[in-house]
Amino acid sequence: MNPPIPVFDGHNDTLLRLTADNLDGDNFFESPHGHIDLSRARRGGLAGGFFAVYIPSDPTAAVVTDRDHLPPALDYHYSLDLAMKMTAKLFEIERESHGDFRIARSVADLLSAKTDGAMSGILHFEGAEAIDANLYNLEVFYNAGLRSIGPVWSRPTIFAEGVPFRHHHSPDTGPGLTPLGFELVKACNRMRIMIDLSHMNEKGFWDVAKTSQAPLVATHSNVWNLSQSTRNLTDKQLDAIRDSQGMVGLNFAVVFLREDGAHDANTPIETMVDHIEYLVNRIGIDHVGLGSDFDGATIPEGIADAAGLPVLVDAMRARGFGDADIAKICYDNWMGVLRRTWGA
Ligand SMILES: [Zn+2]
Repeated sequence: MNPPIPVFDGHNDTLLRLTADNLDGDNFFESPHGHIDLSRARRGGLAGGFFAVYIPSDPTAAVVTDRDHLPPALDYHYSLDLAMKMTAKLFEIERESHGDFRIARSVADLLSAKTDGAMSGILHFEGAEAIDANLYNLEVFYNAGLRSIGPVWSRPTIFAEGVPFRHHHSPDTGPGLTPLGFELVKACNRMRIMIDLSHMNEKGFWDVAKTSQAPLVATHSNVWNLSQSTRNLTDKQLDAIRDSQGMVGLNFAVVFLREDGAHDANTPIETMVDHIEYLVNRIGIDHVGLGSDFDGATIPEGIADAAGLPVLVDAMRARGFGDADIAKICYDNWMGVLRRTWGA
């Protein structure tokens, strides 16, 4: 049997699973739970990815049940505590792996891990709740390894508002960046931290587009024309991503793949390839990658977990994608956009 095609992945919520769920026998190396552990990653060819620090809603805060409205903003100190806990978990994984898992701070780190057969992870903040208005924490977390940040998850922060989850709805749902949000974008440009647009509403997207000097990146979003979710990208947004030499990572979440937006794991792999094909035709083969949302979403049952990545590769091949194109989508394009964003 041939070894699996190496995959670099734009988004996972594995740190959330490992720190929040208290599941029996759960750990990073070999686990019966969730989508990613080192063993399944190796079987599926998952060479590395963005490991999100996502702050769950405060259980002591009022619960918002109306899905059309954004969850409330989070308390800064509550968020910082959890960001420390999840960042610490990533360091713990690295330490306990004895070299089999490495936190990457440069493209050279990513490539040398791949050469050595080690899995690599990029520290990413999905929402900037743990960053203060003076951006002191941005500097501190940068030095700890933070190389990618979304100004918002789907709720307000001091930097922007975020996009609520709605289907058959435009991503234009509210106001864009705050004055501090513009400062955050400029600071990320200076520090060469990647800015992730995936949970921004449309006004926020355009505010980043007109401000940022870096390629525009949506780590885990899909095609709005195929699945009309507020979390997906319109043609106009896709064109801006292409024109900036940016990148879109395909989200495996069925709700962002399916035309009907249904929460149904019985979703054909072909639907994923439809999005890939649309993206390639619209923005070019060099600007499309994968952004699984493993451990954060319901994904097609035909993939099931990280070990199922070769199923998607086979489906791309069946659609007519050649080896060179598949290598770009699965791995090389992420290296390209990170090189353009972080520098060599
Ligand atoms: Zn997300």
